[in-house]
Amino acid sequence: MTPTSITGGCYCGAVRFHAAQAPLYQTNCHCANCRRAVGAQSVAWITVNRANFHFDKGTPQRYCTDTGAWRTFCPRCGTSLTYERDTLPDEIDITTGSLDHPEDFPPTKDFYPEEKLPWVHPL
Ligand SMILES: [Zn+2]
Ligand SMILES: [Zn+2]
Repeated sequence: MTPTSITGGCYCGAVRFHAAQAPLYQTNCHCANCRRAVGAQSVAWITVNRANFHFDKGTPQRYCTDTGAWRTFCPRCGTSLTYERDTLPDEIDITTGSLDHPEDFPPTKDFYPEEKLPWVHPL
């Protein structure tokens, strides 16, 4: 696995993807929107350029959040996969937890620390 070929997929294996570049950012988001959407206290993400991201297997379900962003998840097992905003048309966020090697992509920045749950420790 080279850092310029990132692969991942959902829990059940119905959806697989890859990104053909190193991440632009590696973050850990504490916002209430991510928390509810994913069902976790915080959500780690890597960000890549949309042109370099491809679904290789399966078709994820897509929905628009009330903040105007698009989230995808596996329609079979529910794994949260990606996040896109029209205001950042060249970027897509991928859940670090859906990567095949999440250990290689530690977050380097906390997003929305002001929305962090009090029992979650920041970086
Ligand atoms: Zn799945
Ligand atoms: Zn968030």
